[in-house]
Amino acid sequence: MRESHHDHLIDVKTGEIIEFVDNEIENLQKKVAEKYGYELVDHKLELYGVKKKNN
Ligand SMILES: [Zn+2]
Repeated sequence: MRESHHDHLIDVKTGEIIEFVDNEIENLQKKVAEKYGYELVDHKLELYGVKKKNN
């Protein structure tokens, strides 16, 4: 369906959007859907953060 799935980490100060895929998160979301009797067909995940100073 989708060419390349990815989720987003958004820097709330600069508005920069980092695209990422984390298999652990992907699988966890499927498990949650299944827990409620659903087959997951799509999702959108956005994380909001500020950059740590020591980076
Ligand atoms: Zn995802």
